[in-house]
Amino acid sequence: MSTMTLLEFLNARLDEDTDQARYAASMADGAEWRAEYHEVVRREAGGDRKNRQVAEGTAFGGADVARHIARHDPARVLREVRAKRRLARFALAQAAAVDAEYGCRHGADEIAAGECPDHRPEVDAGLRALAAVYADHPDYREEWAL
Ligand SMILES: [Zn+2]
Repeated sequence: MSTMTLLEFLNARLDEDTDQARYAASMADGAEWRAEYHEVVRREAGGDRKNRQVAEGTAFGGADVARHIARHDPARVLREVRAKRRLARFALAQAAAVDAEYGCRHGADEIAAGECPDHRPEVDAGLRALAAVYADHPDYREEWAL
């Protein structure tokens, strides 16, 4: 049975997204992913090397699926992970600011560690919204749902 906190859960999912996107990016060798008809190809930045196929969407919906895959290429996933980590830090900093003004003066790290009785990450709407992206993961808890 998992005893993960919401923040541990969120960080574990973001770490997984990062690892997989970095692996995919290493396969793409820094090239941009583009949809071309039913295929996703890697395109060298400014180069004239022949495009190489990354994925093929025909079996799952053709060009629409290829565009979806290309739109969520590793570079974008890594940007989204960075944005989600910033939003999580922002939520904790906001909670700390409120706690400093009206509460028991816990810092963001203490709030993240669950040490503040008034500002628990499990009830923070912003952190719960970020965790809800991964609601299909077996460790996700229904009580975190918005
Ligand atoms: Zn406090």
